[in-house]
Amino acid sequence: MNHIQSADKQYVANTYNRFPVTIVSGKGSEVYDENGKRYIDMGSGIGVTAMGIADDQWVAAVTEQLGKVQHMSNLYYTEPCAKLAELLCTRTGMSKVFFANSGAEANECAIKVARKYAAEHKGEDCYTIVTLEKSFHGRTLTTLAATGQDHFHKLFHPLTPGFVHTPANDFEAFKTTVETVGTDKVAGIMLECVQGEGGVIALDKDFVVSVAEYAKAHDIILIIDEVQTGNGRTGALYAYMNFGITPDVVSTAKGLGGGLPLGATLMSEKVQDVLGFGDHGSTFGGNPIACAGAVSVIGRIDEAFLADVRAKSEYVFSALEGAEGVESVSGMGLMIGIKTVKPAGEVLKACMDKGVLCLTAKDKVRLLPALNIPMDVLKEAVEIIKAACKA
Ligand SMILES: *Cc1c(COP(=O)(O)O)cnc(C)c1O
Repeated sequence: MNHIQSADKQYVANTYNRFPVTIVSGKGSEVYDENGKRYIDMGSGIGVTAMGIADDQWVAAVTEQLGKVQHMSNLYYTEPCAKLAELLCTRTGMSKVFFANSGAEANECAIKVARKYAAEHKGEDCYTIVTLEKSFHGRTLTTLAATGQDHFHKLFHPLTPGFVHTPANDFEAFKTTVETVGTDKVAGIMLECVQGEGGVIALDKDFVVSVAEYAKAHDIILIIDEVQTGNGRTGALYAYMNFGITPDVVSTAKGLGGGLPLGATLMSEKVQDVLGFGDHGSTFGGNPIACAGAVSVIGRIDEAFLADVRAKSEYVFSALEGAEGVESVSGMGLMIGIKTVKPAGEVLKACMDKGVLCLTAKDKVRLLPALNIPMDVLKEAVEIIKAACKA
């Protein structure tokens, strides 16, 4: 263990079980450790470095803003924040954006919007938010309450009240859950179109469409958590676009800033004026450097770029489906889960030895490469992953 690793182990809180790898530099989808060993990065910092490491355009956008002004607080206007909000709204048809610094915060804002809308339109006892089992919405006490996985909750009670969970892809169960609370007491429904941390599971289109119709019919705010699925990850700008639904609120983060902390909550016309002066805020939210990087990321995700993401996705699915040691492949776009015969951790370790960094999600190997990973680098990684899956 080198000094970096021993100091980190001694002084950084024990919340992360890090791999014994220290990354010192990189370019695109290739990173290097302190000994110069090369790795292909198939995790992109958990779907964050959407355009890869030290991407030239992103670095230029960020450093240009860094030399102008790095922060002014939300008491003043800055150009990147306004530009990014305009770009996100014109590309999605949403009406307003609130900027935060992380996925959990983007979800906190989404929940506040749903609760305030409900309090004003349906009464102050209408506050319950329905989420799905196996969902993941963040680590704050409210987004933990939203997260439908009990093991994250243990020993952190009491969590924020007013959350109930229902199984994914079971519309009858969903209706029962809502009606047990009372349709006039449910403020919002929050879901990931592709559950990420829950095991890279794409929801059934019928289920998502039925939930969206039900929400609309009962004036329940539909929140789509696009923290992981957003910003081109699934081959659409936002995953909900693959499902043909129109959410009331969309939260996103991870890939949005391309590597700088940035979260966003997009609000449709229906809820655009729910939050007024003083209702919500963030000191760092909409930071000009983070937003300048995001403009560089989102500005490049056009139809041609998304078609390329889908083509790479098809390649990975066809290369891995039916391969020796692979039970199944799930997900959408470049958000891919591999159920392996061997334990996922073993496959991960074998890949790391051979110079490929992967992730896991539950019992699966999870791939979230940079969206612009070159095809030859992707092929090299997939060959190594395939070999690692073999018995
Ligand atoms: C990662 C993630 C979050 C939490 O984001 P943070 O930036 O870690 O707060 C929330 N929802 C989903 C779907 C995620 O994948």
